[in-house]
Amino acid sequence: MAAKKFRTRKTEPSADKREVDRPARPLNVRKRVDAKTVAEPLEDWGLDLDPAPEHNAEFERVIHRTLEIIGEDPDREGLKKTPQRVANSLTWLTRGYDMDVRDVVGDAVFNESHSSMVMVRDIELYSLCEHHMLPFFGRAHIAYIPDGKIVGLSKLPRIVDMFARRLQVQERLTEQIAQAVQDVLAPKGVGVVIEAVHLCMMMRGVQKQNSQTVTSAVRGIFRNDARTREEFLTLANSRSTLSR
Ligand SMILES: [Zn+2]
Repeated sequence: MAAKKFRTRKTEPSADKREVDRPARPLNVRKRVDAKTVAEPLEDWGLDLDPAPEHNAEFERVIHRTLEIIGEDPDREGLKKTPQRVANSLTWLTRGYDMDVRDVVGDAVFNESHSSMVMVRDIELYSLCEHHMLPFFGRAHIAYIPDGKIVGLSKLPRIVDMFARRLQVQERLTEQIAQAVQDVLAPKGVGVVIEAVHLCMMMRGVQKQNSQTVTSAVRGIFRNDARTREEFLTLANSRSTLSR
């Protein structure tokens, strides 16, 4: 079911597509995922990924060896399918490398004279820190002031997802999202705030369970105009009264 959504990437993306921090990686490790399926509910992906739909022998060998190195017996009952599961899970969790802002946004950019701030708050975000490959997760708030163009609101979470599903640092993730909105809409300004907790801080190292990391990135009028920036930060920091 999910298998048909995976495609092996045969060619490099064309040079005219914007590539934000897309590192080179060996083609045999990746499976291509269609960008337009990104925002589908997880069950549409066949997640549970068990039994996983794909085999990547090299990836699975690496995980098998990793299990040995940490002192496990990879051949015991409970771990038999773990290399396959982990390989598929990591492939899925890093599927953002094979996506492009233009694919994600598609044709959902519209001409519109609305000129006040547009904000989508509390976009759920899950990513992996590039230093430890452990999850960090939280919420993103994105605002922009249109300059003749608006984007379908559901596309903003997709942009978040596209960059979050890579190995990341929160600072770069925040900047990439802001820059993508800037590139797609050329608005008067963009502001992005991300609040997240990092398992690499909570589970290991300093073991700070309650510290949140907040990052922001601004473009255009959000950078130049104090009142706009203030309105943005007030909106971003206000607690929603909608039930979730
Ligand atoms: Zn980390």
